Amino acid sequence: MAKQEDIFKNVVSHAKEYGFIFPSSEVYDGLSAVYDYAQNGVELKKNIREYWWKSMVQMNENIVGLDAAILMHPTTWKASGHVDAFNDPLIDNKDSKKRYRADVLVEDYAEKINQKAQKEIEKARARFGDAFNEEEFVTTNARVIEYLSKYKEILSRLAKGMSDDLQDVKALIEELEIADPETGSRNWTDVKQFNLMFGTKLGASADSAMDLYLRPETAQGIFVNFLNVQKSGRMKVPFGIAQTGKAFRNEIVARQFIFRMREFEQMEMQFFVRPGEEMKWYHHWKEARLNWHLSLGLGKENYRFHDHEKLAHYANAAADIEFNFPFGFKELEGIHSRTDFDLKAHEQYSGRKLQYFDPELNENYVPYVVETSVGLDRMFLAVFATSLQEEALEDGSTRTVLKLPAVLAPTKAAVLPLVKKDGLPEISKKIIEDLKWDFNVAYDEKDAVGRRYRRQDALGTPFCITVDHQTLEDETVTIRHRDTMKQDRVKITELRAIIENEVSMKNWLMKM
Ligand code: ATP
Repeated sequence: MAKQEDIFKNVVSHAKEYGFIFPSSEVYDGLSAVYDYAQNGVELKKNIREYWWKSMVQMNENIVGLDAAILMHPTTWKASGHVDAFNDPLIDNKDSKKRYRADVLVEDYAEKINQKAQKEIEKARARFGDAFNEEEFVTTNARVIEYLSKYKEILSRLAKGMSDDLQDVKALIEELEIADPETGSRNWTDVKQFNLMFGTKLGASADSAMDLYLRPETAQGIFVNFLNVQKSGRMKVPFGIAQTGKAFRNEIVARQFIFRMREFEQMEMQFFVRPGEEMKWYHHWKEARLNWHLSLGLGKENYRFHDHEKLAHYANAAADIEFNFPFGFKELEGIHSRTDFDLKAHEQYSGRKLQYFDPELNENYVPYVVETSVGLDRMFLAVFATSLQEEALEDGSTRTVLKLPAVLAPTKAAVLPLVKKDGLPEISKKIIEDLKWDFNVAYDEKDAVGRRYRRQDALGTPFCITVDHQTLEDETVTIRHRDTMKQDRVKITELRAIIENEVSMKNWLMKM
């Protein structure tokens, strides 16, 4: 088994080599935690967005879309709490001048202790085999008890420090003798709050310019438009507004490729419900969103819920859908019951009523909101990293294959003339002319056909269509399936239906 770090490195280099993701402005050595989507990446990203949009907006009569501006009136962020509370605790190392998130330093330290406990558990499992009783072992083995209680104690002291006094977090870092992971220095500054919003200015002259923020989430664009959409669309509660778009956060620690970026894209839906009915909808959306993820077939075991115990100021229930990324289980999507916090806050700051008249109850109220929020880039990473596989073949060789869900693949089929002569390229091009109205198709005539297959495997193309000399006689071609490498001989006129059957969003979404 390859090591986790190696797998992750492989993901990053494959994404670059095959034209999925490049570092931003790479000719200037890049910009930290900012990335560009290349020719294949942009297609995969677009397909993920569309898969989400279709399942949320097109398939739900009571959900409509929105595309609000990135720049918003600055009071928006006062009302939402982002000006005062959208902070991360940062700490600097005085020797190395490196900046870290204080909570992450402590969490990483705690996780190492947890890992020691997990190692003991795995060792015991291997030793005892089927007779192994994990629950009993964890509660009786002295070493494991010590590790796990230390782990829990650190996390609970961290949580207390984060909510009460950041100096306690610094004290904890010193007490645990946590060192700068890069240099080993323990010479730390105090822990300070750092606001994650990017500021910018609107207006030409320095004194009249207005301070603005680049939105750190798309949700607020939905809240401030709640009444406009409700009235102009004659929407009845319960209803939802969905939006995809860029968000910006000045993340302190931004490693892990496109998992944590400073400019990223969110796909969010705010569902407005009657007060008191929010828990019913919260559970509904938790399940619906997990089913959406599962429909892509990346493996049930790769997802888990993490229910929040400590809730954000606006929420009365919250859960993450976590995914098994190459660096472990991490948040992919959040489902939050946001109460009436946001709409009430915008009422208060704007002086406008943001209420709904419920004709069935014959009363006005501020609706409660259940939010689903997934990062498009994180979705990309989940799909891409899980699909990238090294496969041992029967002849002893290996192949690199990107087993993307066919519905998301950037290119659906590649058309390959067996040789560059005898009219085969012309027939290939005719096939492309016909298919390109419905699918992204590619043409490739360079190198031996085996190498061309490998290249399409690495790009995640579900089908290769090969035109050979028999095609001249009977208008048939071979169609090769990426995952099984099986080849069938079919009529050119059958190609569209074969491809459609495997890539149609309908067929995939029906699995939800
Ligand atoms: P985290 O705890 O990982 O920082 P968060 O809880 O702050 O995430 P939310 O504010 O709930 O995230 O945002 C909703 C979704 O947006 C997340 O589930 C994630 O998929 C995505 N997201 C948030 N921050 C980033 C980022 N810096 N880069 C890429 N995606 C992000």
